[in-house]
Amino acid sequence: MPPEAPQPPLRLVLDTGALIANWRALDRLSGSARAGAAVKADGYSTGARRVVTALAGVGCRDFFVAYSSEAAELTALVDPGQISVLHGPLSASDVHFMQQSGLRPVINSLPQARLWLEAGGGTCDLMIDTGINRLGLSMASLGDPLVAKLDVQVLMSHMASADEDCAQNEVQRLRWEEARRQINTPEASLANSAAIMLGSAYHGDLTRPGLSLYGGIPRAEMAEHIAPVIQPQVAILQVRDLVAGESVGYNATFTASHAMRVGVVALGYADGYLRAWSGKGLMHHGEAAFPVIGRVSMDMTVIDLSAAPQLREGDWLDLAYSLPESAEVTGLSQYELLTLLGRRFAR
Ligand SMILES: *Cc1c(COP(=O)(O)O)cnc(C)c1O
Repeated sequence: MPPEAPQPPLRLVLDTGALIANWRALDRLSGSARAGAAVKADGYSTGARRVVTALAGVGCRDFFVAYSSEAAELTALVDPGQISVLHGPLSASDVHFMQQSGLRPVINSLPQARLWLEAGGGTCDLMIDTGINRLGLSMASLGDPLVAKLDVQVLMSHMASADEDCAQNEVQRLRWEEARRQINTPEASLANSAAIMLGSAYHGDLTRPGLSLYGGIPRAEMAEHIAPVIQPQVAILQVRDLVAGESVGYNATFTASHAMRVGVVALGYADGYLRAWSGKGLMHHGEAAFPVIGRVSMDMTVIDLSAAPQLREGDWLDLAYSLPESAEVTGLSQYELLTLLGRRFAR
């Protein structure tokens, strides 16, 4: 047996209680519909396995991933029929895998419908495009005989601009209603996190929040319902003392104006802490705050340790990573801020 590697000096703490509270809030806000959970991209990088385990434990029944390869690590945790694969079957071997595993594909096109039916079919969901023009069957194809042959559980569509108040929301909702009249399915679903706040007309039978489960706030009125879920923590690798005039990092974008103590921390753009944070990020140890100085590099970031110069190598810091505020500071979206968080974080 090879020796077990030590834990890396960066970790992503997941507040499971807050995750569960957020799902319950979204389920409540979904009114008579039930809330599912989008766990694609490894649960928006928080760790899909622990998210599915936690949410299935409190009654969440519907999970969404993009690819069947993402579902593979989840099929032991819940009934595979509760996992919908949003991109649908992408090849004959993908169909085979889904059928062997008991996963539920989301059919997005007539070719996918044919692929699924030719392999014997089975329960599926159907995605209708109502205006995002990404994946989904066009409204004009709803009457195709292939569609009539599908055993559809949930008729879905996906909102393009639910985080804004705009005419497109109502246009999409009306098309989704029209599709529901044309295809009678047991259940219908339209809302992502943001669309849950647009009211009961958008809820159908099932909502599909992702971002807000993990603490994201796509509409201001969600703030009172949603709690932060993740806290990245990083350790100090080295403490250094600079004299006035010394610079820090690539391209010397920071120069010390006086003698100061700095900390080199185990976090870089390879971990998803992009250069957008250079000169803008903040870390904390209790009450003390440490600004990022100079450029973020691949595996390291340097902070001004003046607020707590007694800190030493190996001490842990909390990274300031509130999703709404971080989006303001960096110009990245809350979705990007979550999904960027890299594989080196111990989860
Ligand atoms: C990602 C995704 C969701 C979740 O969206 P959020 O904005 O993260 O709540 C829901 N439905 C589909 C089809 C998706 O691709």
